[in-house]
Amino acid sequence: STPSLRFKIVLLGESGVGKTSIVLRFTANRFHETMSPTIGASFLNESIQVEETEINLQIWDTAGQERYNSLTPLYYRGSHGALIVYDISDEQSFDRATYWVNQLQNQGGEKSKIMLIGNKFDLNQKNVDSKMASEYADQNGLLFRETSAKTGLGIPDVFVDLCKELKRE
Ligand code: GDP
Repeated sequence: STPSLRFKIVLLGESGVGKTSIVLRFTANRFHETMSPTIGASFLNESIQVEETEINLQIWDTAGQERYNSLTPLYYRGSHGALIVYDISDEQSFDRATYWVNQLQNQGGEKSKIMLIGNKFDLNQKNVDSKMASEYADQNGLLFRETSAKTGLGIPDVFVDLCKELKRE
């Protein structure tokens, strides 16, 4: 029988950057122009095959609002991987992403592998420079990808690539 692994993955980032949309594109290959906001956090289970290994992903999609800040550690604690998402058209969402990077990197105990994701790459308005973001990721030991939940660009690769990285550890 094929070996199997189980990873807990958490999505973090400002409200509206497309976290739920990335999960929807990955799990159902669908996209909605209007989405109801995630309250607190939602949980999904999805299995994928990565290099002959069956991987069960427990995906935690968190609400990005500041008012849930104190709750968020409950979701990322014990996670193997974190997708920290910003919107390439929104500079402030990049700043918010760096806040989550610091939160995760400064927590005690097991560290989760972080992938920084610039989403909404389909938009013409690019207010977060790719090179700057990529350098920031390098300096902080993060994986980095740009995606569009709308067109599907880079998805499901973000999940597959993160799993490959986690398998190696
Ligand atoms: P969340 O709050 O981070 O979970 O963000 P949502 O997934 O709810 O998305 C917020 C809004 O951005 C919705 O209107 C989505 O349709 C839209 N959206 C999400 N991803 C993309 C994308 O890649 N491109 C574009 N143009 N819009 C997106």
